[in-house]
Amino acid sequence: MRRKLVVGNWKMNGSLAANAALLSEVVAGLAGAKAASAVCVPAPYLAQCQAQLAGSALGWGAQDVSSHASGAYTGEVSVSMLQDFACSHVIIGHSERRAYHGETDAQVAAKTVVALAAGITPIVCIGETLAQREAGQTGAVVAEQLGAVLDAIGADDIAKIVLAYEPVWAIGTGKTATPQMAQDVHQVLREQLATKNAAAAGGVQILYGGSMKPDNAKELLAMPDIDGGLIGGAALKAGDFLAIIRAAD
Ligand code: 13P
Repeated sequence: MRRKLVVGNWKMNGSLAANAALLSEVVAGLAGAKAASAVCVPAPYLAQCQAQLAGSALGWGAQDVSSHASGAYTGEVSVSMLQDFACSHVIIGHSERRAYHGETDAQVAAKTVVALAAGITPIVCIGETLAQREAGQTGAVVAEQLGAVLDAIGADDIAKIVLAYEPVWAIGTGKTATPQMAQDVHQVLREQLATKNAAAAGGVQILYGGSMKPDNAKELLAMPDIDGGLIGGAALKAGDFLAIIRAAD
């Protein structure tokens, strides 16, 4: 059985004061939760997470990492810096990074390799745009995005990644893929994982992301290949985030 995992992607939101309140409410509400949970926060708040969350059930991590180890890369954050703050997870290849920062499949693959080498779980994001879905290209798009990562990592690494299917048209729009639409893609993704490592594919957590909320989480998380959620807006409200984690129980 795969353990469910619910990850909050705070995106570019937060302040020291707001984070402190949000994190303490979430941690207090986690007692007895069966699902694993984590928050991926802006890099300046990793120290705050480490100080406030160490020893709690809530993991923490970053929203991106450089594929370079160190050097003249102004504005970038290296994986050893994420290690300094004991990150458990790092989001890689979010559609906002692909769209606004021009991240390519090759860069996403390189960043995944770097995270794996550092022992930090990469949450590899893939998903199609509305135009691609309407053109019937969903399967081909996600297969290419995942294929680039699978080509770059070893067969043994399959067991160490988390995959997130985030249809771009569902992110921040209030439009959610139906549970069946998401399940159909997740199942195909798991089959693709199996081509690299059949034994490990069944254990990989595949998260759904895109307007997941307390009122739609339960039916999404009930699908056989949906193993959790990557939550944007609803992760900024402790009550909503906790309700989604509980829906994964
Ligand atoms: P929303 O939950 O706000 O749609 O964002 C989803 C997302 O992009 C998580 O990474």
